[in-house]
Amino acid sequence: MKKLIAGNWKMNGTEQSSDALIVAVEEAIQKNPAVLEQCDFVVCPPFLYLPMVKDKTSVVAVGGQDCSDRENGAFTGDISGAMLKDIGATYVILGHSERRQYHAESDVLVAAKAQMANAAGLITIICVGETEAEREAGAQNDVVGSQLKASLPQGVNAQNTVIAYEPVWAIGTGKTATAEDIRAMHAFIREKLVQTLADGANIRILYGGSVKPANAAEIFGVPNVDGALIGGASLKADDYMGIANAVKG
Ligand code: PEP
Repeated sequence: MKKLIAGNWKMNGTEQSSDALIVAVEEAIQKNPAVLEQCDFVVCPPFLYLPMVKDKTSVVAVGGQDCSDRENGAFTGDISGAMLKDIGATYVILGHSERRQYHAESDVLVAAKAQMANAAGLITIICVGETEAEREAGAQNDVVGSQLKASLPQGVNAQNTVIAYEPVWAIGTGKTATAEDIRAMHAFIREKLVQTLADGANIRILYGGSVKPANAAEIFGVPNVDGALIGGASLKADDYMGIANAVKG
């Protein structure tokens, strides 16, 4: 399975800086096309810049950072999965811990959004992960197990869904989970997927949380790590490509 190198640009940048970033990534991949044998690429810019970013690349897929759980109608400020699909997006990140924390998104809402996104033909990247307090209490498997159970809609399969394990305490903090923490949690997630889904063995499981070029090779060497969801380091083309280049052939 190729590794998925997913960039979450969050609420950063301008039209000009987003343009420069995607052009630099596109050029780096075109100069070293062998990287496409090991990696698939997706970036998730702010909604406003998504069509522009999509137009600047032929090798990087684009995705939204969220979408609505509704099809259409009087939902001011929301963007539907069908709208994302309409402008050429392939993926959508759902249930990111920042959405869960700052917008009080529940597992049930994440599942409803995922169902709409899948119905629109998008691949969801569904984020799960424990807080620092939950890990200190040894509750990480219970937390992630129940998030997985409740955040995945009916009809999930390896073509329409990617899971991202992102320990909340490792996001944007510079703290990375140890290789052993990642191994244990990815094995746990794989076991749950295999137990509940016909092709659970083939669903990609990404790791996210302060991934950078310096730690990427070790993380990609962990079994059941099928790629990375990258925040801060995806805002610099050199770092984003440095992470992709850490994937061993
Ligand atoms: C993220 O927000 O999904 C993330 C993993 O961020 P960072 O890489 O900055 O920790």
